[in-house]
Amino acid sequence: MNITIIGTGYVGLVSGVCYAEIGNDVICVDKDPYKIDMLNKGKVPIYEPGLKELIATNRLAGRLAFTSNLSNAVRHSDIVIIAVGTPPLPNGEANLSYIDQAAIEIAKAMNGYKIITVKSTVPVGTNERLAKLIKSHTNMAFDSISLPEFLREGSAIQDTLYPDRVIIGAEYQNAADTMVQLHKPLTQNIVVTDIRSAEMIKYASNAFLATKISFINEIANICEKVGADVTKVAEGMGYDKRIGSSFLKAGIGYGGSCFPKDTSALIQIAGNVDYEFKLLRSVVEVNQDQRFNVIRKLETIFDGELNGTTIAVWGLSFKPNTDDVRESPALEIIQHLVDNGVRVKTYDPVAMESFQSLFGKEGVIWCEDAMEAAQDADALCLLTEWHEFAKVDLHELQKVLKQPILIDGRNVFNEEQVLGTGFIYYSVGRPNLN
Ligand code: NAD
Repeated sequence: MNITIIGTGYVGLVSGVCYAEIGNDVICVDKDPYKIDMLNKGKVPIYEPGLKELIATNRLAGRLAFTSNLSNAVRHSDIVIIAVGTPPLPNGEANLSYIDQAAIEIAKAMNGYKIITVKSTVPVGTNERLAKLIKSHTNMAFDSISLPEFLREGSAIQDTLYPDRVIIGAEYQNAADTMVQLHKPLTQNIVVTDIRSAEMIKYASNAFLATKISFINEIANICEKVGADVTKVAEGMGYDKRIGSSFLKAGIGYGGSCFPKDTSALIQIAGNVDYEFKLLRSVVEVNQDQRFNVIRKLETIFDGELNGTTIAVWGLSFKPNTDDVRESPALEIIQHLVDNGVRVKTYDPVAMESFQSLFGKEGVIWCEDAMEAAQDADALCLLTEWHEFAKVDLHELQKVLKQPILIDGRNVFNEEQVLGTGFIYYSVGRPNLN
């Protein structure tokens, strides 16, 4: 099939490449000429394992192209997929201005029937509103499809080529059938439904996963007080098929460009129809507080006096295998430390640049590697579970720190690894070791 994808970010780029990989002709469009220029030079503007190689093979095979010229791309395609950002507004609602703009530009470029598909996460009712917007700018026929995206950064290619399910929200059967054909090579689990339900499935799924994370984090906080071990509690719970083991990892809470924004948006969506989503409000509140556990532990260790200490921070991205730092807990934790007179030394394998672009370059010491960050620090906080941190020799690490204090915000290390190293070790929902 001939497909145009509008928006070449984490979702648009990965989806475009994967549609090409299964044999479609794909044009990826972005209004950012810098991104397109990079892609046309064989460079990749985001970090996602395996993406660079897949782009190269599909460009070579002539199935994948990049352009800033939206009109030309739309004219060459039967299916147009919108994957632009829907970032949160200050009140928590989704900002739909990019998607509206994209829809108008598509409408103006149309030269015949198209299937116009929305992959961006949008509140219930948005597709219907967009269809009216498009109709007001063109006389050409089209069908609307809602195609919510579930990929996870860090494993985006795997998630796209082997998705758990594909959700297709459609008004008319013909367009739905075409979209089913497109996704059949990827999975048998295709749910075809109405557009509003498809839009809701995305928010409900993310809200449920966020709930699981906040739930286990609260259990972890109780475990710390009653002397239980949350990793064992989660393991014991996870074998129950009704519960499942995924998303039961205690830590410093979720971040990223999706869970924080989608939970806030769903609270707003409910509020707009006079429904107070009390459970989800608590999930958000618990998550917001969880990151400060790291600070509270530091305060306990240093008798409330952080001013003048040197703290090493390992990990800046909201999770490993991505350079995405949007809503990363590290942003607030580091800001709090800096505001309280702490000398912060930090290192992340890939997210230093993206972190600096949000946080600024001032006030923090940026290090070349993990050991340099730890050198002469009074304590080390591990905020992202990058594999390279898990591999570190704790005996070697102990030697470079001024004081052997490790706050493991992601429960990367276990008792066996820590005992005998001399570390004073704090983790999440597990007994302290010293
Ligand atoms: P992103 O910010 O990485 O990328 C969006 C891209 O769209 C940018 O490159 C921007 O320049 C481009 N753009 C904006 N308006 C445009 C226009 N009119 N024409 C052409 N290009 C335009 O965003 P993302 O992380 O890929 O997310 C996209 C959508 O997918 C969001 O709604 C998000 O909630 C949803 N989503 C994201 C993820 C994820 O893990 N990132 C997962 C599932 C769903």
